[in-house]
Amino acid sequence: MLTEPPHHLTPEEFREAGYVTIDWIVDYLAGIEDQPVFPAVEPGQIRASLPDAVPEVGEPIEDVLADVDRLIAPGITHWQHPGFFGYFPGNSSAPAVLGELISAGFGIQGMLWSTSPACTELEIHVLDLLVDICGLPDRFRSDGPGGGVIQDSASSASLCAVLAARDRAGGAAVLADLRVYTSSQSHSSIEKDVRVAGFGAHQLRAIDTDGDYAMDPSALRAAVKADLADGLIPCLVVATVGTTSSGAFDPLPEIAEVAAGAGAWLHVDAAWAGSAAVCPEYRWILAGLEHADSYVFNPHKWMLTNFDCSAFFVADRKPLLDSLSVVPEYLRNTASDSGEVIDYRDWQVPLGRRFRSLKLWFVLRSYGVEGLRAHIHHHVEAASELAGRISANPRLELATPVSLALVCFRHVDGDVAGENLLTALNATGEVLLTHTRLSDRYVLRVAVGGSRTTSDHVGRLADLLDDLA
Ligand SMILES: *Cc1c(COP(=O)(O)O)cnc(C)c1O
Repeated sequence: MLTEPPHHLTPEEFREAGYVTIDWIVDYLAGIEDQPVFPAVEPGQIRASLPDAVPEVGEPIEDVLADVDRLIAPGITHWQHPGFFGYFPGNSSAPAVLGELISAGFGIQGMLWSTSPACTELEIHVLDLLVDICGLPDRFRSDGPGGGVIQDSASSASLCAVLAARDRAGGAAVLADLRVYTSSQSHSSIEKDVRVAGFGAHQLRAIDTDGDYAMDPSALRAAVKADLADGLIPCLVVATVGTTSSGAFDPLPEIAEVAAGAGAWLHVDAAWAGSAAVCPEYRWILAGLEHADSYVFNPHKWMLTNFDCSAFFVADRKPLLDSLSVVPEYLRNTASDSGEVIDYRDWQVPLGRRFRSLKLWFVLRSYGVEGLRAHIHHHVEAASELAGRISANPRLELATPVSLALVCFRHVDGDVAGENLLTALNATGEVLLTHTRLSDRYVLRVAVGGSRTTSDHVGRLADLLDDLA
């Protein structure tokens, strides 16, 4: 018999604290522009300020919230600050936050259809909706052999593509002979995924790029041909639509032809740029995608959906399931045995999974296609204006043509001047930029795309560049 009541919040305390928390978030976002984008903290400073033990007796939730305000918020890098131009954007929006909240409230585990039918069915549905609004090839729809799944990150999705491609080509029996191809500009996650999949570094071929940092298909063709001549097995080509350094677009049609000729799986990584396909005017970036075996893009980057939400599509789910499906007795059930349902645990590495489609569904319905298009279009226009301002500045030069909403530029005085400019810009607290290297030269990157970033904020950055360069 229970002698003490359980130490939960009462429903009324939960309700009260919930309202307070939403108020806190709304106020945080309303005041975010008054904060420096990057916090003024030293390593270790935040940890040292935290209560150093778990209290023996639970504390009021108000005290915990007060410590978020006092100890945590001052140490946040404000990704939702409209002056955040670093890396790629990590969008957040009110509908997505509410969807996350309800997901947390359900507290479910969506590993099998039968562990929560609505979790699986909404996810299937929402991914088909993404096929509709982004004009993706029909082969990625769930009503054929293919379909989509939400993963935590593009890195995980690409790992699944690597595993499926590896096993389709013969798996462990021929592992040493398999080869994977991607451009020297592809994301670091591809190298990591290939390593995780059991390949040695020499089994990944880094294909040269052209003057705009896009994969050179003739270099790919030559590498594949040489490997075939050596009796090796090309099992996977990973193409990037919108590279991380500079937003280059690998030429999918030519790459697809080489991959098909060698019997290799073609995976397309459009983690950042893929969201732009919601606008018909930018959909050309996906020309050739109809030949891909798998595709990933991140609504958590530029489609107003909170991290984590990576949309992964396959043209044929069978190789994926062959690679990843393991059925222990304790997870067997009649629905799965009937073969009539999708069990998403077979489409990913972990067993457990969150109800992520809810936040995406909230976003799609709340913004509508029109709202999503306006979000992307506005940023692309603002980036183009910024590129114009940079071109007009004699101390700066574009390092690559502007790619959608990514602008890459250099200081004409060289690397040190570029590094100093980045430091000076970020020291204003009004903006945060990051850098890369292209052709071994230091390049500043401006990734326009924050949920609250407007052309005014981009204009302010252009003014800062004029002052500080
Ligand atoms: C951001 C990015 C990734 C990694 O995305 P995660 O979801 O963080 O794993 C992969 N590929 C490209 C091209 C990216 O820009």
